[in-house]
Amino acid sequence: MTTDVVIAGGGPNGLLMACELALADVRVVVLEHLLEPPTAPKANGLVGRVVQALDYRGLYERFSGSSGPPVPVPGFQFGALPLDLSALDNNALYALPIPQRRMEELLEQRARELGAQIRRGHKLIALHQTADLVTVDVQGPDGRYELPAQFLVGADGGHSTVRKQCGIGFPGLTDDSFVSRSGQVTIPPPVAVPGTGELQVPGGGRLRPATFTRTENGLFAYGMFQPGLYRVAVSEWAPSPPEDTTAMSVEELRAAVRRVLGADVPMSEPAGGEPTALRRSIGANSRQADRYRHGRVFLAGDAAHVHSGVGGPGLNLGLQDVLNLGWKLAAGVKGWAPEGLLDTYQNERHPVGQRVIMHTRAQTALLSPGANVTALRELFEELLLQRSTVQHIADLMAGSDIRYDTRTAGPAHAMAGRWMPDIAVSTGAGPTRIAELLRPGRPILLTPADRTDLAVAAKDWTDRVDVITTATAEPPADAVLIRPDGYVAWAADTGTPGAADGLRCALQTWFGEAG
Ligand SMILES: Cc1cc2nc3c(=O)[nH]c(=O)nc-3n(C[C@H](O)[C@H](O)[C@H](O)COP(=O)(O)OP(=O)(O)OC[C@H]3O[C@@H](n4cnc5c(N)ncnc54)[C@H](O)[C@@H]3O)c2cc1C
Repeated sequence: MTTDVVIAGGGPNGLLMACELALADVRVVVLEHLLEPPTAPKANGLVGRVVQALDYRGLYERFSGSSGPPVPVPGFQFGALPLDLSALDNNALYALPIPQRRMEELLEQRARELGAQIRRGHKLIALHQTADLVTVDVQGPDGRYELPAQFLVGADGGHSTVRKQCGIGFPGLTDDSFVSRSGQVTIPPPVAVPGTGELQVPGGGRLRPATFTRTENGLFAYGMFQPGLYRVAVSEWAPSPPEDTTAMSVEELRAAVRRVLGADVPMSEPAGGEPTALRRSIGANSRQADRYRHGRVFLAGDAAHVHSGVGGPGLNLGLQDVLNLGWKLAAGVKGWAPEGLLDTYQNERHPVGQRVIMHTRAQTALLSPGANVTALRELFEELLLQRSTVQHIADLMAGSDIRYDTRTAGPAHAMAGRWMPDIAVSTGAGPTRIAELLRPGRPILLTPADRTDLAVAAKDWTDRVDVITTATAEPPADAVLIRPDGYVAWAADTGTPGAADGLRCALQTWFGEAG
């Protein structure tokens, strides 16, 4: 038995990769060594451009349960400092609250609908590759077997076996100067202020959900994801961290909160029988794979990068790695990937990972204890009164400051390499928006009706590229060639000389030889 692509790991990144490949009609097998999705709570939601990117696949509706495009949030935090986003012209900080387990259920359902095979209880043990094939050794419920494929994606998490087997380095830092604890608990009134989601802590002040409180001893945050059930998280700066071997209790969580806030928050096991999901962890890693590709093997998600979770950037980064790689791998399988296309994954996404590591370390520094940090925070707070600074930080956190290399000679249009905004357009089929046109996961060329020269130039690529005649009130360019991941491969304005030649060149660069 062979397949086109094997994905090691059925977490969110592996499952979205399966959706992307199956959507492009690629045979895909996901190996997931757990029989059931893990119950321990992980992500509570998605933050940043990824929310819009998922809308460009029709997944926002499934995840949020609401129709229509996502709307950016009016405010957020950077290192527990307030970010007022309400005055920005361009705000790409979207937020979508959804527990990771639910996200994984929905992605698994979607991947199966599209025809992906998901093998639970199957663990990748080893891999070896030749110039034409990569073969994985799998331990399944009925014994060991080999599975050859054209490509392997290692989406097997921070301790990635795939990364280690490929000998890919994972340089970075392990910071064990703090201890974090979290759990799901009931907090009774009057500390839990009825109807507000807030906590009125005697001696600790009024606290708001989804907001960090920094003290000289550590950090406190909480959220309420269903009525009466609070997810509490607390980190303490601890010069000598405790042994991580004893079982954790609600009392340990409560004591840590007391030390950090200097005040007591009454808490007990959830009244409704929900799991307490207690978790203790020491420090955090921030590391990045030194290469994202090793021959026919690619890394995505936590297998490629781990970092502090401050600001919730993990899945914004990982899921967009997947959307970047998915269509390129499909092109490799289908045989039309132009020279160098698969290498653009590393070239485009490694720098984005570096920036996430940079801003999460910067936020960790801002959250640290000490009078010098407090002074730095005061200065930062002043800087955050300037709109341009807020815009810069919001773009950094959203991942919307990306401009990919256009890979073409000569000056490029200002939109080339950038995210295609979700504008309203009108096609022969009626009014629609960019997000809806990109849902089939194919490249699209949008041209106005009078640019038949461009439609003619693209006619030899129509097996791979959808040419759509559109009209829009405020076109960002006369014609736009959009990659399946939502980034602009090429654009031209009315009157650009040699536009048809430029388009042919871009089509060849990104989508291969004419058919
Ligand atoms: C407490 C916590 C809170 C977080 N909160 C947020 C948040 O709010 N927002 C956010 O964006 N991110 C958050 N994150 C980060 C986010 O959870 C991760 O970035 C995300 O899980 C990474 O997904 P992944 O698919 O790359 O890896 P994982 O989720 O680790 O999945 C990897 C999968 O591979 C499987 N696997 C491993 N080895 C093998 C093998 N050899 N063979 C087969 N299968 C294998 C594992 O069983 C696992 O299912 C949080 C993380 C934690 C721990």
